[in-house]
Amino acid sequence: MNIFSILASAALAMPTFIPMPQQVQWGNDSFVFSIPYRVENQCTELAQNIYLHDLTLISEPQSSRVCIIKQEAMSSEGYRLHITRDTLLIAADDKAGFVHAGQTLKQMAANGMLPCCDINDAPRFEWRGCMIDVSRHYFDLDCLKRQIDIMASVKLNRLHIHLTDAAGWRLQIDRYPLLTQIAAWRTQNDWTEWWTNHDRRFVDTRKGQPEEGTYGYYYTKEQMRELIDYASERGITIIPEIEMPGHSEEVLAVYPELACLSDSAALSQSPDDAVIRGMNSGDLCPSNEKTFEFLCGVLDEVMELFPSQYIHIGGDEANMTAWKTCQRCQAHLTELGSDKVSDLQADLISRINIYLNQHGHKLIGWDEIIANCNPAHPAKTAMVWRDANYAQRAIDNGYDVIMAPNSHCYLNRNQDAPNGSPMDWSYLPFDHVTTFNPCNGLDEAQQRHVNGIQACLWTEYVTNDSAVEDNLYPRLLAIAETAWRGKTEEDIRQRATDFSATLIGKGIKAFDLRHEIGERPESRTACNHKATGAPVTYLHHYNRYYPAQGVTTLTDGQRGGWHHGDGRWQGFIGDSCVHLVLDLGKRINLSTISMDFMQNAGPDIYLPALWVIECSNDGKRWQELYRQTSEKDLHRGLSFHTWRWTGKARARYLRILASSHDRRSWIFTDEVIVN
Ligand SMILES: [Zn+2]
Repeated sequence: MNIFSILASAALAMPTFIPMPQQVQWGNDSFVFSIPYRVENQCTELAQNIYLHDLTLISEPQSSRVCIIKQEAMSSEGYRLHITRDTLLIAADDKAGFVHAGQTLKQMAANGMLPCCDINDAPRFEWRGCMIDVSRHYFDLDCLKRQIDIMASVKLNRLHIHLTDAAGWRLQIDRYPLLTQIAAWRTQNDWTEWWTNHDRRFVDTRKGQPEEGTYGYYYTKEQMRELIDYASERGITIIPEIEMPGHSEEVLAVYPELACLSDSAALSQSPDDAVIRGMNSGDLCPSNEKTFEFLCGVLDEVMELFPSQYIHIGGDEANMTAWKTCQRCQAHLTELGSDKVSDLQADLISRINIYLNQHGHKLIGWDEIIANCNPAHPAKTAMVWRDANYAQRAIDNGYDVIMAPNSHCYLNRNQDAPNGSPMDWSYLPFDHVTTFNPCNGLDEAQQRHVNGIQACLWTEYVTNDSAVEDNLYPRLLAIAETAWRGKTEEDIRQRATDFSATLIGKGIKAFDLRHEIGERPESRTACNHKATGAPVTYLHHYNRYYPAQGVTTLTDGQRGGWHHGDGRWQGFIGDSCVHLVLDLGKRINLSTISMDFMQNAGPDIYLPALWVIECSNDGKRWQELYRQTSEKDLHRGLSFHTWRWTGKARARYLRILASSHDRRSWIFTDEVIVN
């Protein structure tokens, strides 16, 4: 047999690994799995979860043996597989290692044989997670178990569930029954309708069977125990998240006494009338002892239920406005000797941290807890969701971090061309997820404080099980490989496509990368036109948060992609509507002038109310060439529109105005194309 045929036969037998093991050395034969086979298990209990019974292999009437051994001093969760023609040796030092070995064997056996090999494998990161928001939309145990199975198969080991938020409280808490009798039930299924159209009313189920159309669910403790056990058998820890002090509108709707004194007008007066009024604040009052009593009461039951060492307390996006005018908060600030309301959050988080520690648990929160940290009692772990730069700040402040930056890890973003989709308005294709480097910009010492990475699925626009799976897969496979190896391998796209095909075959609604449309076609190649490189003078400045490439953006030959934040679309809002002058250098013949505009009422992006093009030879006297108007379109869902003048003219200067419908409407535009 020459080297090429050896390689060819090895390639044929090559399993679709996700994640790719750290070290694989292939032999050129295969293990013959005969039944009955001999098992020499030297560590029964440790290896009981290895799922060997799931392996389907070719059976031949020869003797073969499976040898399971405990190998001391192997790294945590690590394992070794040594496979020869007659022996399958499985070694690990801990239960997780045997579970992972079993998952690797399953992936290898999917081809109907076990090729001879030597695999040495261990994870790069300890925390390999996925977060699912069950507040905005609820997903039942069957759905969550399906995701747990897939997560386990790709060696993810943390399922973080976002149990509480304005959209509904989803966990039975015996001491505070109104949370699930009222705050778990809302008047509409669709979160967007309920939230954006400002109904935001909860339904009191104590009064009997709720009306049809009521959307309400929560996990009983018994159900949650079932899920915890199911996950645990598969090597996955469930991390509960109880949001505080922000994102707590649903709590305030039923326990309004937990709000700031200044906030009461915005709240329900009694649980009979549970509604989130206005946008005043979703924050608990951090200066009320009753708030601590409530939070500790909830956490007592959470800690009793969840074996997880870590309890997630949210901590993100507290709006803090009510705290500024609450007498109780002001008095508390005086006691703290501070004039920063953010110190109230720091104080609350550190008290909760102490409470969790006293009960043998650890606090984890979103990266806002770094800034709002009481140095006397700092929490130790933060989950970085904003800019990855927050990782550096966190580590410098003594934290360990779990990296979940929205730029790479928010799988609720559109996976493919979002045309017409009412889904989340940003764009995160598979290939971008594969570029995620969780340690980017960190030196070696800092990297030791990166404990893991996590994908996040926020579910404002994810309304059913199919949408969960369509969003998670195959992107979660790339996250799983990065979590295991620190990065993805080059062939990840092919492996993820194959792996997804297997999932689809099992009825999972994974997105099929073979049908991917990809980035907006107009944005893929540079466009050359008569105004390319022409200087632009802004009569009104673009918005500072959406500068794109600054003053060169609109004539750089680059058109925007699917996402308004992609660095090519320039954003305008308020008084700064689009108003600019282009200098074409000399008088030239003009036949078309066009601009692209984005429309999506979700994030308040609209077509211009009015678009006017004027031309001039001297930049002083102007002649109107064209005008176009539009009505405000309240449809949520992304679409793109090219507005165009066509005709005959000759000029050196162009003055373009695009004004918005009102001060709250954004205009996003990319290239001004002149021909
Ligand atoms: Zn207050």
